[in-house]
Amino acid sequence: MITGQCLCGGVRFEVTQAVGPFELCHCSRCRKSSGSAFVAGLGVRTQDFRLRAGAELIRSYEAPLLECPPPYLVSFCGRCGSPVPNPPADADWFEIPAGLLDGDPGQRPDRHIFVERKSPWFEITDELHQLDKEELIALRREGADL
Ligand SMILES: [Zn+2]
Ligand SMILES: [Zn+2]
Repeated sequence: MITGQCLCGGVRFEVTQAVGPFELCHCSRCRKSSGSAFVAGLGVRTQDFRLRAGAELIRSYEAPLLECPPPYLVSFCGRCGSPVPNPPADADWFEIPAGLLDGDPGQRPDRHIFVERKSPWFEITDELHQLDKEELIALRREGADL
């Protein structure tokens, strides 16, 4: 069992297992919503996720559509501001903010994505694959790995 919580501990959740992919997203919206160089998103199945506490604290913001659906949606704790997981009603898979996890999820990052929108002050120095938007779309279309 993998557990996680926000900064204030008001929002708590557990995941029986993480299935991946584990992606580090450098897009401008992820950078702004996190205030950091990238967002670390770990893929989990909706059926493996359970919110333990804090549903009443969760707020969401949907950014205006840039190009095509789905819109960029960020959910956060209304008390401490941490990003929090919020499974979409119609999806059987979604990504949780990996920084919230208390322990080791047993997965390691698979790749950097949206690297063409990366912050100029951050240099990627690891050996992970680096995908730009077009390459990511092609990968998703293949259906090989979500
Ligand atoms: Zn909180
Ligand atoms: Zn992103």
